[in-house]
Order: sequence, then C-alpha cells, then structure tokens
Amino acid sequence: MFSYRHAFHAGNHADVLKHFIQVQLHKYMNQKDTAYTYIDTHAGAGVYALDSAQAVKSGEYIDGIARLWDRDDLPPALADYVGLVRTLNPSGKLRLYPGSPWVADAEARLEDRLRLFELHPADIKLLAENVRKLEAHHAEQGERARGRRILVERADGFHGLKALLPPPSRRALVLIDPPYEVKLDYKHVRDALEEALKRFPAGMYAVWYPVLQRMESRQFADRLKRLPAKEWLHVTLSVAGPRADGNGLHSSGMLILNPPYTLEATLRETMPYLVQVLGQDAGATFRIEKGTQVTGAVAREGV
Ligand code: SAM
Repeated sequence: MFSYRHAFHAGNHADVLKHFIQVQLHKYMNQKDTAYTYIDTHAGAGVYALDSAQAVKSGEYIDGIARLWDRDDLPPALADYVGLVRTLNPSGKLRLYPGSPWVADAEARLEDRLRLFELHPADIKLLAENVRKLEAHHAEQGERARGRRILVERADGFHGLKALLPPPSRRALVLIDPPYEVKLDYKHVRDALEEALKRFPAGMYAVWYPVLQRMESRQFADRLKRLPAKEWLHVTLSVAGPRADGNGLHSSGMLILNPPYTLEATLRETMPYLVQVLGQDAGATFRIEKGTQVTGAVAREGV
C-alpha cells in the first residue's frame, strides 16, 4: 500500500507544472484580505533533498526544475516559482526541492491556515519535522500566527477534506495530489470533489493527475469536468510524444475547479515556454481547455 515515495519524483516536469500553478493560485487567493484555508489532501514529505539516494537514482529533477534553474528568460509565473525554489537554496546551488506544503507556507500569509494530510509512516515523520523547522523559522523572524497556523495529520486526505469543509472563513484552496498507483484513487478524487462541492461550492479545487494510457486516466479529466462547479480550467503538459514501450511518465495534467479568472492567460503565456525548455522530443506539447456550468460552453485550444 505504501510503495509510492514522492522523493523519487521531486522536481520532475510534473512537479514543475503542479507547483508553478500552485504558486499562482496562492497569489490569487492573497489578493483578498480575508484569510483562507489551504488543504493539502496528499502532502508528501514537504521538502526533498535532490542529493538523496532516491532522487539521485531516478534523476527526474534533472529534466524538470534543473532545466529552469539557470535560465534568465523565464516568463513571470515561472520566475515566481523558480524564485521560491531559490529561497530554499540560498547558496545558489540546487540542492533542495519544495513540496506543496513548503510552497503553501511560503505563499500563504500568516493569517491563512494550512491543513496537511499524509499517510506514509516515513513521509509523515519527515513532514512533521519539516513543518517544525518552518515554524521555528517563522518564530525567529518574529512572525507569530494566532492559533495553530499549520496542522499535520496522519490521516486519509479524502476523509480529512470532507471534515474541513466549509472552512470558517468561507475561503479555501484545496490541492488533491494522490499517487494514483491504485486505480481507486481516480474514483476517490471524483467522489471527494463531488462531496466537497456539495459542502462548499465556492472552494478552489486543484487536482494533479498523470496522463497515462490506462482507461481510468484517459476518462478522468472528462469526469471531473462534469462535476457541478461553476467553471473549470484544464491544462496538460507532455514533455515527449507517446513512446512505444509505454514506460515513464511523460505527460500530466492539472484540472482546477473555480479557477482564478487570470489563470488562463498566465497558462497561455507560460506553457509554450515550458514545452520548449522541458520538451524531450518533437512530441512535446501542451493543451489548455476550459468550460463553464452556466453556459455549458467549452473552449478547446492548445498546440
Ligand atoms: N503533494 C505533494 C507535493 O506536491 O509535494 C506530493 C504528494 S505525492 C504525489 C502523494 C502522497 O500521498 C504520498 O506521499 C503518499 O504517501 C500520500 N498518500 C497516499 N494515499 C493517501 C491518502 N489516502 N491520504 C493522505 N496521503 C496519502
């Protein structure tokens, strides 16, 4: 059950897609004064050492964050994201990679709340330790939140999400990022979103998923688009065309329910650059689509 360790994949092209978008979602949420709750249903370890045995073995970050690290022509959204990774690596050498909890801590304000769920016995320990370090750092800076700003729970994130909605401030940003090693994860995400939308229709929900040949993956985004959210925005990044051996992950997607109205333009500006810099062969491409419940209209575009 616990075979998945994100340390093997930290900083790969899929993390780049997920985390640069996460940064933009926080920046949008930060535009209003009212505090919000960030809920990370599958938080992972929080921070990853790129010189760990796992990261070195897979080397995935080399074709992800490392390709952006020394660029001086980054579009603004990627400059925000790489800038955030730089704050974790003040020496200038890329050694540590931030997971979604670290991204959230860096972007959310002192009054916002972070609720993090993780089940893996080793990763929950690492996460708790990384959160302790973050809290110590905030305390050193004299930044003291009222009440517990970050809560880490060893619990099933799908259940945890349900229990937290609606949030006290009526504002929430939710990241759902399971391993999808078991087919049931696809169903669990859909069911969790259906329930979440009933409890809190106004929430912003971001789902990452792997684009794979398996049927569950191919039908997944279409199923999520039919959920009763006012709007959705869907983006996929493929760093290579389909390979005959079917090995490796070359393509992933983010589907956001109730997205910021600014995000589509940001994606249009950013995705062609990502394809150019992260692309591994001529099959590299992106796709952006959006739809609304109100009109039922769907705009499809991409390259
Ligand atoms: N969101 C993290 C990030 O972007 O840095 C990466 C998360 S990783 C893809 C998925 C994590 O979910 C793994 O650490 C795994 O142990 C954990 N996990 C698996 N099933 C879970 C569940 N039902 N509830 C909470 N965590 C779970």
